[in-house]
Amino acid sequence: MAMPGLATFAGLQACGNDKSQSSGTSAADSTAAMAKTGGRKLGLALVGLGKYSEGQLAPALQETQFCKLAGIVTGTPDKADKWKKKYDIPDANVYDYKTFDRIADNPAIDIVYVVLPNALHPEFVIRAAEAGKHVICEKPMATSAADCQKMLDAFKKTGKKFSIGYRLHFDPFNREMMRLGQQKVYGAVKKIYAQNGQKEGYDTPWRLNKKLAGGGPLPDVGVYCLQGAIYTKGEIPIAVTAKYHPKTDLEKFKEVEEGMDFQLYFADGTIAECRTSYNDKYNLLRGETDQSWFELSPAYAYDGLKGQTKAGKMDFENVNQQARQMDAFADCVLNNKETTVPGEMGMRDVQLLEAIYRAADTGQKVSTKDVRQVLDPTPKAQV
Ligand code: NAD
Repeated sequence: MAMPGLATFAGLQACGNDKSQSSGTSAADSTAAMAKTGGRKLGLALVGLGKYSEGQLAPALQETQFCKLAGIVTGTPDKADKWKKKYDIPDANVYDYKTFDRIADNPAIDIVYVVLPNALHPEFVIRAAEAGKHVICEKPMATSAADCQKMLDAFKKTGKKFSIGYRLHFDPFNREMMRLGQQKVYGAVKKIYAQNGQKEGYDTPWRLNKKLAGGGPLPDVGVYCLQGAIYTKGEIPIAVTAKYHPKTDLEKFKEVEEGMDFQLYFADGTIAECRTSYNDKYNLLRGETDQSWFELSPAYAYDGLKGQTKAGKMDFENVNQQARQMDAFADCVLNNKETTVPGEMGMRDVQLLEAIYRAADTGQKVSTKDVRQVLDPTPKAQV
């Protein structure tokens, strides 16, 4: 097990929005809170053992300081056997989708992390809430804002923590974009460019299925453009416009868009030009002011992020974003702090995604003034 390093401590400072976070006491708070439970790390159960769980979250959980992989929920017995052996998971902590609700009686599981196709998030988040667990839900939170509201309602009764798997809020490069933009370090941001596209194959077919995914690249990778523009500006757009890319593969993109350009309009006249695609590769977040500019490219990857400003390169380490994100959530649970990436933020983004689809479908500018007004706090300079 990796020992906690400075990087972990810095990541935890990003967790909550109370003042103790910025004083750097967070990791110490968590260590103290953990000591009260005999030093036990919080037990986390992954629901859905697909690519993201297998390739990113389970390995990241080997690096976390305050939580550990304690349980799994899967519909595939072969996978259960493989994971039990690989991660030393006892039979008592293995569930399938039918037996899942029995997790309520398992004190070894504190946190449930839902990593299923998007349309299945609401059911499993609500069942986890009803089982009395803290919950992390992958992005996008759901395929409709109405479902997001039901998910939020499920936590009103339990008082448990609920966050979205927005890993980039814990990444130093993206946090620097937040700081430079929100603190107007180079002046007010006047223009933003956010582009995220990938060549999508057929390996996760649900991503091309409108009912299971909620859409194509927009809710999957375009949501990072939306997020990036919002946290660079530090404001929520008041209106959106959008246009679908023409389809070049009618079979593959029978149900979902192949790509889309969309614009976010902010109250002061700033425009974010965003682009997303399942048929082209791009990965950029850029802010421009009257005097300068700052950008990440790639901006949204798990690793290999690079940042530049007019003044030169950004000097940060690439970190394990998922480990930081999960430790930050564990810190919130252990110390009863508010997560900076709550379900309300997930709902805000789903509301914006719905407005973007409405704009693309109608060709009209769509007001977004009624979306949930949730922002995470401006980060301090990183040392
Ligand atoms: P995946 O297809 O690889 O995994 C999905 C898992 O759900 C599989 O284990 C599959 O067996 C299971 N499943 C259960 N019911 C299913 C059904 N009806 N249809 C299809 N699969 C079903 O997908 P993934 O790439 O791991 O994505 C899972 C979630 O994680 C999605 O919400 C996705 O947006 C999110 N994700 C987030 C990030 C990130 O960077 N935060 C990255 C990748 C994926």
